[in-house]
Amino acid sequence: SVPGASQATASGAKTDLEFDRQHIWHPYSSMTSPGNIWPVQSASGVYLRLEDGRELIDGMASWWCAVHGYNHPRLNAAATEQLQHMSHVMFGGMTHAPAVELAKRLVALTPAGLDKVFIADSGSVSVEVAIKMAIQYQHARGKPQKNRLLALERGYHGDTLGAMSLCDPTRGMHHLFSGILPQQFFVAAPQTGFDEDWNDQDSEPLRQILSQHHQDIAALILEPIVQGAGGMRFYHPQYLRQARALCDEFDVLLIADEIATGFGRSGRLFACEHAAISPDILCVGKAITGGYMTLAATLASTQVAETISQGEAGCFMHGPTFMGNPLACRVACESIDLLLENNWQTQVQRIEQGLLQGLAPARQLDSVADVRVLGAIGVIEMKQPVDMTRLQPACVERGIWIRPFGTLVYVMPPFIMTDDELATLTAAMVAAIAVSG
Ligand code: PMP
Repeated sequence: SVPGASQATASGAKTDLEFDRQHIWHPYSSMTSPGNIWPVQSASGVYLRLEDGRELIDGMASWWCAVHGYNHPRLNAAATEQLQHMSHVMFGGMTHAPAVELAKRLVALTPAGLDKVFIADSGSVSVEVAIKMAIQYQHARGKPQKNRLLALERGYHGDTLGAMSLCDPTRGMHHLFSGILPQQFFVAAPQTGFDEDWNDQDSEPLRQILSQHHQDIAALILEPIVQGAGGMRFYHPQYLRQARALCDEFDVLLIADEIATGFGRSGRLFACEHAAISPDILCVGKAITGGYMTLAATLASTQVAETISQGEAGCFMHGPTFMGNPLACRVACESIDLLLENNWQTQVQRIEQGLLQGLAPARQLDSVADVRVLGAIGVIEMKQPVDMTRLQPACVERGIWIRPFGTLVYVMPPFIMTDDELATLTAAMVAAIAVSG
């Protein structure tokens, strides 16, 4: 446990909490009317321990990341051991075993053809890198006018400016910035659900926009199969196959943003595998270190990487200070090894069954519009936006941690969650919705 934190419990948790509320921004928070906030003291396995001693089953895996749970002995040992060697060195002109080992794993495990690895430091940065790669690629081919991106409505790709320009423009979140964001193209999101009968019309809008505007489009970016923060929607693999074919037909790159879906979450190691396609550029992050620290990567095909390198700039124009951070790379290697050794696919299938079973009773509630599950992702979509000030405390009272947004009450648990814990988590979700949804 963290020494400072336990001291704070004994003497001044309230003061710390007050300081927090007055001085610290949290994600999407207000300084004048801050929402509820719960001080967490430590985390182990699938449990988050609050400073007041309550233990919560974590349904969020810290926003898709903590696939092995918290305080994992193997990840702890990897980090501790790496600290004895070096926590960070610059990556300009130097390399090290953790980066090389990570790149080997990524090249081997990601869809075929993605052989060149840019090790970024957060998901949003890996998206910025992908955008810049696509634009530099087209420029190097003598097609500088192909410098805009095409994205799906209801998509989400991050909060930095370039990534924001690719997020659904119809949602309020980024509207304020529209005047300064790069102007991109958008196409309707696929309508056919993952398990529904495919309707060929579903990819027609994509064909149309590509046929009209391909001369201005460097790349199509999408979240394969699972549109995350833009609605937690699961769409049909055939859409992805069509997208791949249409990108080839219209000479546009395909960027897959697997920051949320990568490393097993959707039931395949990478969601592109549901459609057996390879993108030209792939973004991964979040679960890459098992949630231990911030790291992401952008992988590109040899063709993309070599074309960029032979272009006017002679290099790829990006190099963050914490690129290739050895501590994060070392933990990422250990996390990936753990995933493979623990037979992640069996874990995710078991969680899928537990979520299907545990969330089914929510269908009986009048307030619920839909219940859907894919891999280790469970979603209850409400008819009306949830009242966070009621629902979240109702969940904490029942011993679970989730963070709903809008009409979506959803979980993406650590893969190590037991069947009993999963049953407790889902039952508490449904009960909390019943009283406060
Ligand atoms: N793309 C997707 C699909 C994501 O889910 C996220 C994170 N929610 C991002 C990009 C941005 O990643 P980060 O928050 O690490 O910058």
